[in-house]
Amino acid sequence: MFFASDNAGPVLPEVMNALQEANQGYALGYGNDDLTQAVTAHIREIFEAPDACVYLVPTGTAANALALACLAQPYQTIFCAPMAHIHEDECAAPEFYSGAKLTPVGADDKITPADLKAEIERALERGFQGVRPGAVSISQVTEFGQVYSLDEIKALSDVARAYDLPLHLDGARFANALSALGTTAAEMTWKAGVDAVSFGGTKNGCMGVEAVVLFDASKADEFEARRKRGGHLFSKHRYLAAQMQGYLANDLWLGTAAKANGAAQRLIDGLRAIEGVVFDYTPQANVLFCALPLAAHARLQEAGAVYYALHASDTHQHVRLVCDWATSDAAVDQFLGLVKG
Ligand SMILES: *Cc1c(COP(=O)(O)O)cnc(C)c1O
Repeated sequence: MFFASDNAGPVLPEVMNALQEANQGYALGYGNDDLTQAVTAHIREIFEAPDACVYLVPTGTAANALALACLAQPYQTIFCAPMAHIHEDECAAPEFYSGAKLTPVGADDKITPADLKAEIERALERGFQGVRPGAVSISQVTEFGQVYSLDEIKALSDVARAYDLPLHLDGARFANALSALGTTAAEMTWKAGVDAVSFGGTKNGCMGVEAVVLFDASKADEFEARRKRGGHLFSKHRYLAAQMQGYLANDLWLGTAAKANGAAQRLIDGLRAIEGVVFDYTPQANVLFCALPLAAHARLQEAGAVYYALHASDTHQHVRLVCDWATSDAAVDQFLGLVKG
């Protein structure tokens, strides 16, 4: 019963096989190998964006920080949700790489167009003493397990566009969001006004690879320079590419996201049917936040279930539960049995 995070599960066997297959003979380093060319072409195809620049990096933090550095200047600010991974969980890497300040928008997990507009206006009113608006970043899936609808993304990009600000999408759980919405990568990104994407691989079954997709090809040279200067250009690059190849082949990535979301749905349905369990956010993908009665939490702890315990009240323990592609029905059912008592 392991529900701590979707980076705690095993690597997909197909990804391991792809690594093994790539491990033959010689290939030029730094992305100048056939596998990298094939994989970046495949990602362009998936995004229906033949002119997009695609780069592989080993972590989501690198993807976000390097992408944002290409979108915002040091005297500007990047608008994001208060709990955004770039704001709370990246040790100020986006600030470090871009030099820009981050400005939290609203008080919620999701940014609303009205709050975004108000925060941009506030920055503009500050005049010469304040930072200039630079970019907007949203997480899809959000940190609290919610998903922006296509209309919500469009509404945010309309606001960003009105101020000439690029929109970045942190897709550490991109496939989970895609699966939840039943849409395409193009619809969820550039067709909805997104300019740059951090396309996650690690949490959905890779060992450690994410792609940065920049729809503005004029950023290519800047990104490449920043990636090298930041120490994120993998030398034996074929091993990043091999993971991505195994992950994307035969739409495996969509299947594993559907499995993770399905396991979470089984957990959600089960928890909904148990009296005393309260959801803190509306779970829409593979991450859920809820409050468990204290006795249920104690039973789970006793049985060795692993998950993040957040704050507690006199009656409830608030927890975060995450499923990945390898979460079994048996683990979910055992968990639910212990919550029921
Ligand atoms: C996990 C995650 C990342 C990437 O984190 P790394 O540990 O740097 O790979 C980025 N954004 C979100 C929303 C995440 O959940």
